[in-house]
Amino acid sequence: MLRTTGVPTEQELDAVFPSKERLEKGPVVVVECFETIPCNPCYTACHSGGIRAFKNIIDLPTVDYEECNGCTLCISSCPGLAIMVIDYRYHKDYVKMTIPFEFSPLPKPEDWVMGLNRNGKEVKRVQVLSVKNTKHLDKTPMISIAVPKGQFKEIRNIRVGDL
Ligand code: SF4
Ligand code: SF4
Repeated sequence: MLRTTGVPTEQELDAVFPSKERLEKGPVVVVECFETIPCNPCYTACHSGGIRAFKNIIDLPTVDYEECNGCTLCISSCPGLAIMVIDYRYHKDYVKMTIPFEFSPLPKPEDWVMGLNRNGKEVKRVQVLSVKNTKHLDKTPMISIAVPKGQFKEIRNIRVGDL
């Protein structure tokens, strides 16, 4: 499915999502990288051992869920916008999801925006918690949104503007 549509199947997503037990321990990275291309900035950006060393530059990244602390440092390093961080313990009903966002305009904290699925289809209005756009992020801002726990695997992007 990924090869023909660019959108991963549920099974492909299951393979790269942390377990429920790991999610419940605290913030953790989700790396949706499915193409074997020569690329490893996710590994070089991580100072905590959360991304395991590549044996070959074309390896797919693998996550050491015990070492990842959900710091978000790797998110903006990924040219494929393939990385997000989920904080499942943020709220009893919501996760805090931090995603890369390269569109303009940027939202502001507390704005309501449209949560989109991996096909770009509308799922649900979600609220922006924070926006980071420092020089260090190299033109890939990070947006944190509050996503209902029932939909955190579905929502992967946002649209700013008309709701
Ligand atoms: S979130 Fe932080 S600790 Fe986890 S893989 Fe990314 S850079 Fe490493
Ligand atoms: S930086 Fe992004 S595209 Fe490159 S290997 Fe890591 S996750 Fe994949």
